[in-house]
Amino acid sequence: MANVDCLQKIVVFLVVITITIFSFKIPITRLEFPLYRVVLDPGHGGKATIPKDEYGDRFDVLSMKYLDVYREGASYKNYHEHIYTFEVAKRVETLLQLLSPNGNFEKFYTILQKYTDKPVKRIYIQTFMSRGPSLNSHLIHKEPNAPYRLFDFISNDGTLKEGRISYINSLKPHLVVSIHFALNSSPYFRGMNAVIAAPYSILYKGLQYFQGTIPDRSFFYTSKYADWFTEDERKSGFFWYSNDVVMYFTGYRIKNDYSIDTDAFRGYRYNMVQWAYNDPPGWAHIAKHHPPNTPYANNIQQFIPQNAFFTREQSKYEQYRRDGGFEGYGGDNLYASNEIIRFVLYNLYSKGIRHKDQRLAPPYISIWSVPLHINAINAFIEFGYLARPYTRTIINNHLDDVAEGIAVGIYSLFAGVEVTKKYPYTPYGKKIDLEKYKIDNDNDYFTIVR
Ligand SMILES: [Zn+2]
Repeated sequence: MANVDCLQKIVVFLVVITITIFSFKIPITRLEFPLYRVVLDPGHGGKATIPKDEYGDRFDVLSMKYLDVYREGASYKNYHEHIYTFEVAKRVETLLQLLSPNGNFEKFYTILQKYTDKPVKRIYIQTFMSRGPSLNSHLIHKEPNAPYRLFDFISNDGTLKEGRISYINSLKPHLVVSIHFALNSSPYFRGMNAVIAAPYSILYKGLQYFQGTIPDRSFFYTSKYADWFTEDERKSGFFWYSNDVVMYFTGYRIKNDYSIDTDAFRGYRYNMVQWAYNDPPGWAHIAKHHPPNTPYANNIQQFIPQNAFFTREQSKYEQYRRDGGFEGYGGDNLYASNEIIRFVLYNLYSKGIRHKDQRLAPPYISIWSVPLHINAINAFIEFGYLARPYTRTIINNHLDDVAEGIAVGIYSLFAGVEVTKKYPYTPYGKKIDLEKYKIDNDNDYFTIVR
């Protein structure tokens, strides 16, 4: 009888175990409404402290050195870009939290009613920040710029620490909103501007031009991306485009005669972040020798764009992000940026604010780090110029209005907001078609980034 008793105990034990396992199975919670992940990315935050070997950014594992000083952003008198990017982002975060699954949607609804008299959709937005408040007393920290670096780096304790781009990718967001202010500009760019990474097609044509398979420069001047960002007006747009093409592919800058400058290495940026498109482990041992007919060649004629990153660059998803779309070029990134700017302008006009600087100005087109190294749609925006009195007035009196325009713009990119009034730069109010980023039932382009 002892055996039967024992058997009974075993059976009871197994039943209990089974019930326990099933009751602990992760419940599949189906939210009532779609949920979108948004990262607010206030620019800068650290200090451009010298020496860059200790405080810099763009850590390069080939030389084990920082290739750049920390970019602390623009300053004009007492106006510091890094302060206001964060101030705006915090306000946007507070507004977007009304859209979190347990948020006060009614309160957000009353804001939306200022923009539209049409019915609005309930959606969920989960909001993250890419950094905390700016560094103020950097002497108390051993590694003051650590929370603010864009790229990964080797910490003082010898371990690899992730930068902000890797952190953004770990959140697998649908949308990243990068917030900046610049110092000054020519009248042509005055206003608010999108900052976009050019699509692969135009960059690849540059490579073909350098490799001699495209005979002349006309492809550039007739392209929608000919209005290229110039670091310095003394050289032509084509020079800066060429510099960016060579840097995008090889990691090197060019000299005045357009030849590759092998002393000016800017790094393999796609290997400076954590994501699905890094080269396989051991890549640095090969890259160190810059062998010809590889993606590490330091001779443009012998450069081959063949690795995970350049395959990604040629994908249809990158085309959606960076080319064509509602604006006719610049893809969803330019649309998202311009649309958010249009909602900010809409809000300012509705408050009776008018100024010649209050405009949607042309985008800055180049090979910027944030839009290139995330899979999320990136609205990267310069919200004005600190040296311009108009921007300082907006900063002093209307940061809440700017933040509200951004928050409503973000909502509209996911749900659509057909605005009631007609002001200059009326938003299109069309949501982005995210279905085209779907890969299969379980994955989309945003979730596969890491
Ligand atoms: Zn900036």
